[in-house]
Amino acid sequence: MTLTQSRRQTILIRQRICKTYTRFKAVSRVLLWKGEWGPRGMELRIENLSKTYANGVKALDSVSLAIPAGMYGLLGPNGAGKSTLMRTLATLQEPDSGSARLGDIDVLGQKDKVRSQLGYLPQEFGVYPRTSAQDMLGYIALLKGLTNARERKDAVESMLKRCNLYDHRKKALNSFSGGMRQRFGIAQALIGNPQLLIVDEPTAGLDPGERNRFYNLLAEVGEQVIVILSTHIVEDVTDLCTKMAIIHKGQVLYQGHPQDAIAQLNGRIWQCSIAKSELAEYERCYQVVSAKLVGGRRRLHIYSASPLLESFAPSVPDLEDFFFVKLRSWN
Ligand code: ADP
Repeated sequence: MTLTQSRRQTILIRQRICKTYTRFKAVSRVLLWKGEWGPRGMELRIENLSKTYANGVKALDSVSLAIPAGMYGLLGPNGAGKSTLMRTLATLQEPDSGSARLGDIDVLGQKDKVRSQLGYLPQEFGVYPRTSAQDMLGYIALLKGLTNARERKDAVESMLKRCNLYDHRKKALNSFSGGMRQRFGIAQALIGNPQLLIVDEPTAGLDPGERNRFYNLLAEVGEQVIVILSTHIVEDVTDLCTKMAIIHKGQVLYQGHPQDAIAQLNGRIWQCSIAKSELAEYERCYQVVSAKLVGGRRRLHIYSASPLLESFAPSVPDLEDFFFVKLRSWN
C-alpha cells in the first residue's frame, strides 16, 4: 500500500467514526426528548424546609424527605402544606429555611438548572383555550429549549401518542374533557424529558375511567424518573406509589413504604356494623378510625391495640386506616 493510499484509508476510517458518532448523538437526543432513554437513579433530598406565611400560618415545619426515582405519594389532608412544598420544589416560591437537592443540583440556588429538569402539573394550569393541543405542546417544547424544528415536531408527535391525544391533536384545548385536559397537562409537563415530575392533586374531577387511564400513564412515567404525586386521596397512593410520606400541619408524620405502614396496624383494626344513631356512643367509647355508610348502617373501623370482643371482628388494615390513625396520633 502506498503512503497516499494508507492516508486515504485513515481519512475514510475517521470519516466513518465521525458519521457514526454524529448519528449516535442525534438518535440519543431524540430518545431523550421522547423520554425513552435517560439517566436514572437520581434522588431528591429535602432537608428541614420551613415556611411561615405573612398571616402567621406555618405551612412547612422542618420537612425532611428522601425521594428516590419512582412514584412517590405525598399524602395529606387539605391545608397540610402539600402545595406549599410542591411550589417550593417547582422553584415558584421561597422557603424561610432549609435545603433541597436534586442529584447534585441545589434546587433553591440553581433555579434555571432545576427548571430544565422539571415537569410540573399544578392543580390549575392555564392554556390558550383556542389553540390546538399540537400547537400548544410545540410552543411549550420551544420554551423548554427544543429549538430544532424537526426534533420538536418528533417530540410533540411522540408525546401526543404517548398521552393518547394524537387523534385529538388538532382540536382546541377548550373542547377537551376533564380527562383529556389532565392528559394534556401531563404531556406539557413531560415534554423535555424531565427528571423530576411534580403532579399536584391530579385526579380531582376525573371520572373512574379517566382516572384509570391517567394512573396508567403516570405509572409508566414513574418507571423512569422521580414522580411526586401530591394528593389527599388515599386510593391514589395505594394504587400507584411504592414510597410515600404523610404530611399534616406542615410536619412529616410518616415516610416509607405503604406496605410497611399498613403492617404497623396488623391486629389493631376491628370492625363492626351499627345503627346510625349509635355512632356518637361508639365515638365516646372507642377510637373510631372511620364510619362508612353501608346499606343504611354504619360500618366502623376501630383502632385498638388489645383485642375487642363480642360484636367486633378483626379487620385487615389498609392505607386509609393508617392515614387516619396517623392524623389522630393514636399509634
Ligand atoms: P395543601 O396543598 O396541603 O392543601 P397548602 O400548602 O395549600 O396545603 O396550605 C398550607 C397552609 O398554608 C394552609 O393553612 C393554607 O391556608 C396556608 N396558605 C397557603 N398559601 C398561603 C398564602 N399564600 N398565604 C397565607 N397562607 C397560605
